[in-house]
Amino acid sequence: MADPLPRSLHDLGFAEIEAELRAAGTSAHHAKALWRALHRENELDLAARDFCRPLKQWVAARVGAGKPFFLDAPEVSSETHSADGLTRKFLLRQRDGQETETVLMGYDGRHTACVSTQAGCAMGCVFCATGQMGFVRHLRPGEIVAQVLHARRVLEATMPGRRLRNLVLMGMGEPLHNYDAVIRALEIISTVRGIGIGPSRISISTVGVVPGILRLAEEGQPYRLAVSLHGSTEEERAALVPASKKWPLAELIAACRSYGEITGKRIFFEWTLIAGKNDSPDTARRLVELLKGIDAHVNLIPLNPTGGFAGTAAAAGVGQEFQRILLGAGIPCTFRQRRGIDVAAGCGMLKAEKVKTRFTI
Ligand code: SAH
Ligand code: SF4
Repeated sequence: MADPLPRSLHDLGFAEIEAELRAAGTSAHHAKALWRALHRENELDLAARDFCRPLKQWVAARVGAGKPFFLDAPEVSSETHSADGLTRKFLLRQRDGQETETVLMGYDGRHTACVSTQAGCAMGCVFCATGQMGFVRHLRPGEIVAQVLHARRVLEATMPGRRLRNLVLMGMGEPLHNYDAVIRALEIISTVRGIGIGPSRISISTVGVVPGILRLAEEGQPYRLAVSLHGSTEEERAALVPASKKWPLAELIAACRSYGEITGKRIFFEWTLIAGKNDSPDTARRLVELLKGIDAHVNLIPLNPTGGFAGTAAAAGVGQEFQRILLGAGIPCTFRQRRGIDVAAGCGMLKAEKVKTRFTI
């Protein structure tokens, strides 16, 4: 029988690492040292580690070219910083050449990584650079984990002593379209002895994949949920978010209601404000009606212009009026600051810029 395809050690949870060691006749007792090296100490060269002998032998026999396991160590394909240095954006090249974005943000003493869950995205939101690219493939758990490890490595190198404590799945891709890999990655990322980002500091942002939202609730997944809404009627939303034809607004709101009832948790609603499309006072009032009875927080996001969409950001005064209506109805509502707009901060924009440059040279 042919050898199974090599697997990434970063794909494996702690129990699987224990099982692998046991299956190879090595005591599972060594799993802690291996886990610590991979996830706490960010080690990429396991062969060079001063492990005890049995683990050293396991690594020598099992990890590396032509062996059953490899490590996910994406290369930086391009990198850009905001003028204040507080936002760093990376285009990371995966083993098959696919490039995905990872962002490290540091404001008010809080450091947050924003990672991708897919190469491209199948959901096709008209204003989103990733949506404009289309779907390429799902990322594996290890490819998601490795982005967090990369962000942490950069943080440690640039601001020694600072810890990465927050994670948002708001990079390229739709997390709930890649549910199993995302949940596996988050289990790995939140394991205390490893990367150790607390589940309540991890946000999954979804375009509104109804079955995924319900599954999160039924499984009692401990992460925060953000739902990208962008429209207050079926029509308004469908013009921006094609996925709403599959999961209509009414079904999405019903799923959010169930999620809230089952979990008792607040839901964060993302709203990209686009001039003339979804920024009117009437829209704000309809949004208030929609969210009645849901423990909701609305995040308003100014539109980042993208090559494939002619829309423009809502004027500042219009956005403030929108916010005032929500606040007046008792719905917490904040503006997501345009942090690092000078680094093409919108989802998929660094990749889109690179492709554009390639084709125009
Ligand atoms: N697919 C998920 C997560 C990735 S997108 C989702 O859609 O929620 C993360 C957030 O960035 C979403 O709220 C999305 O609507 C928003 N976004 C994407 N492109 C944008 C742009 N050009 N300007 C402003 N917000 C954008
Ligand atoms: Fe996909 Fe989210 Fe972009 Fe929509 S906004 S295309 S769901 S990444």
